[in-house]
Amino acid sequence: MNRIVIVGASAAGLSAGEALRRKGYDGKLTLIGDEPHAPYDRPPLSKQVLAGTWEPQRAALRSEEQLAGLDADVRLGRAATGLDVTNRQVRLSDGDRLSFDGLVIATGVTPRRLPHCDLAGAYVLRTLGDALALRAALLAGPRVVVVGAGFLGTEVAAVARSMGLEVTLTAPQPVPVRRPFGDRIGALIAELHRDQGTRLRCGVPVRRLSGAGGLVTGVELADGMLLPADVVVMAVGSEPATGWLDGSGLRLEDGVVCDKLCQAAPGIYAAGDVASWYNPRYGTRMRLEHRMNATEQAMAVAGNLLSDAIPFAPIPYFWTDQYDTKIQAYGFFPPGAEFRILRGDPADRCFTAAYAYNDKIVGVLGWNSPRETRGLRRLVAEQASWTAAAATCP
Ligand SMILES: Cc1cc2nc3c(=O)[nH]c(=O)nc-3n(C[C@H](O)[C@H](O)[C@H](O)COP(=O)(O)OP(=O)(O)OC[C@H]3O[C@@H](n4cnc5c(N)ncnc54)[C@H](O)[C@@H]3O)c2cc1C
Repeated sequence: MNRIVIVGASAAGLSAGEALRRKGYDGKLTLIGDEPHAPYDRPPLSKQVLAGTWEPQRAALRSEEQLAGLDADVRLGRAATGLDVTNRQVRLSDGDRLSFDGLVIATGVTPRRLPHCDLAGAYVLRTLGDALALRAALLAGPRVVVVGAGFLGTEVAAVARSMGLEVTLTAPQPVPVRRPFGDRIGALIAELHRDQGTRLRCGVPVRRLSGAGGLVTGVELADGMLLPADVVVMAVGSEPATGWLDGSGLRLEDGVVCDKLCQAAPGIYAAGDVASWYNPRYGTRMRLEHRMNATEQAMAVAGNLLSDAIPFAPIPYFWTDQYDTKIQAYGFFPPGAEFRILRGDPADRCFTAAYAYNDKIVGVLGWNSPRETRGLRRLVAEQASWTAAAATCP
């Protein structure tokens, strides 16, 4: 193999390239990214960059010298527009065609939008440009409505509220971040936001954005209530960025469908937010939008592309920062799982908890408890019982 192309120059794409070089690949390497920037990290965009505590450059994943050390043909500001699997070529927006022996698809996701999202004052947050535009808008002191109370929506609401703004968080679910964590943790997150003065309008879907003269004026809920706003942030999920693969013959179903090696077709692999692969640990196909997964999956893909043939079977890990709270979690939190506090007290806002199915721990969560949470990961790896968990956390 001596021509590898990576499409997507962000967390997963960069990690794949670096891992290929570390593993001794010395052939031609091309990294294609449609953004104008060198690879940067996204988690700070809804935290430090939005809050203004980091200069945007600090989100860069590598220095210029480090990127040069990759010895790759890095082409930024250019999109892949098509893939010819039979002739093993990627088409680019500048008309170029790149031949490959190995291909890594790492194009991530794009944000969903609401109807009338073209009104001025309506924002999404995925890119550095998005973060800087939203920050500039927040500095004008607007009334803010955040639509969507997942990780992104709750983080943006926390930053905007910490800037002293009038903030309303709205979502169809009864509590924030309900899908991953369930009602109990969702209620604690709701309480955290209320204590800081953020208004919550949960349990009612959004009908549409309202506007006048091309400017957003608010958010209309399905029950008829109007939430007035000068700035609306749409944090309503995302779609895998696979449009450029339409017609390629690759199977696309909520991402690029891959086997347990993360292979979509011979010599063609996917990593990061765009990959929907079979995780043998859980016996099911999954797609994760977590930063740690982007790196780990890209490293696994690099090895498999160079013929390791090792199934990728991670325990999912993710975190979120809101106000002065850090929540970290390993594993899965299926609806109906039994939830118990392991150590500490939610009232003190410092505790660890676990979720179990049939007396097997499937997920652990830490609220302002980073060190303990790391230690609890093995309960998930071992599918420990409640008795074993209690022995770990006396
Ligand atoms: C604001 C924000 C906050 C986050 N916070 C957290 C957090 O606290 N914890 C956590 O675990 N995760 C967090 N995440 C998720 C995490 O950042 C992602 O899981 C991670 O960035 C995925 O990396 P990726 O390389 O797969 O995709 P991306 O980072 O999306 O990169 C894909 C790249 O491919 C480019 N691309 C797309 N299509 C094409 C094309 N056709 N041709 C060329 N290039 C293309 C895109 O423009 C992009 O640059 C956050 C994400 C966001 C947006």
